[in-house]
Amino acid sequence: MRSADLIITNAHILTVSAQGEIAHGCIAIKDENILDVFEGENKSYQAETLIDAKGKLVIPGYVDCHTHLVHAGSRAHELQYRLQGMRYQEIQKKGGGIYATVRATRAASAEDLYRQSLERARLCLEHGTTTAEIKTGYGLEPDTEKKMFDVIRRLNNESALETVATFLGPHVYPEDKDPDAYMNWLLGGGLDLAKERAAFVDIYCDAGAYSFEDTEKFLRAAKAKGLPLKIHSGQFEPLGGTGLAAELGAVSADHLDHVSEAEFDAMLRAGTVPVFLPGCSYYLKTAYPDARPYLDAGMPVAIATDYNPGTCPSLSIPMMMSLAVMHMGFTPGEALTAVTLNAAKALRRDHRIGSIEKGKQADILICETDELTDLITLFGVNTIGTVVKKGAVL
Ligand SMILES: [Zn+2]
Repeated sequence: MRSADLIITNAHILTVSAQGEIAHGCIAIKDENILDVFEGENKSYQAETLIDAKGKLVIPGYVDCHTHLVHAGSRAHELQYRLQGMRYQEIQKKGGGIYATVRATRAASAEDLYRQSLERARLCLEHGTTTAEIKTGYGLEPDTEKKMFDVIRRLNNESALETVATFLGPHVYPEDKDPDAYMNWLLGGGLDLAKERAAFVDIYCDAGAYSFEDTEKFLRAAKAKGLPLKIHSGQFEPLGGTGLAAELGAVSADHLDHVSEAEFDAMLRAGTVPVFLPGCSYYLKTAYPDARPYLDAGMPVAIATDYNPGTCPSLSIPMMMSLAVMHMGFTPGEALTAVTLNAAKALRRDHRIGSIEKGKQADILICETDELTDLITLFGVNTIGTVVKKGAVL
């Protein structure tokens, strides 16, 4: 008998790897990693901890590849404006929207910002998210951006949630500072900060956010520094950011409600991961984009929450899967791959996470349901029973 730390037996495993579906099998885990995944009963491994999955569904930990999880304050009161039919840009003009969160995040102490964010990290884990990308961008000035990076790192070190930091200094133009002076900081000190602290840089290129010209300046400067690129583009208007990002070799392009054919082709050529954010369409009551052409073209399509306090205050990946299947053309299987392996690709971590495979990190969910379709049909219900992160049962 070989020794393991943890063995999950009697499991209906969706590996999201070449091994496919294992109707009845086991997973052996040692030293944070997956030692073996096999069909049938366990006759080869002994371990101190055994979990009988009782035939339930076992899947890779969810990877939320696009969030704004670190911020202070709430914008729940903006719901009333939305229900009156006020548009996102109008709420922003009234001093709400991103600027309200910027003011609250600047004012919060590092400790307070950490504590508020930790509550959200716990919610992520409860709903099966074991890795989350988290963006800065509620500072719009250097000190608060640094404070956000500190909190993202502290969450990674002190909570079970694995975090990936993205520099989103160019989230919107600051309302209380000279936009040109801020742009100069972004291109100089901002990118230096990103080089030191971030895995990716990102820019919001859209109506009410950064212009195409400034987006091009920023992304080219970031690329010249060797920083991997992401973009928020085509949410409200097709300013051309999606195609530009793809031509510059961006790792992912996110939102994609409005994308031209040429931009679609550029993404396909570049291997840019399309990231869809169905929670925004749900909460902003806008049309859902059709993901089918991207899936049919064989692109590694991902889905994320875009958790943020204004346009998608939900951290539930299963809810996003359900929306994507009901409104955006995904099959349940494609939705699962989109929130695991393909989301890991959008973070360049697919060699470590996103599937249940020998040698990968043991990030595993034991669900309280039997079949994949249950995750879609039981929308709004938390179907997660047990979360295993880096081999540890949470
Ligand atoms: Zn976003």
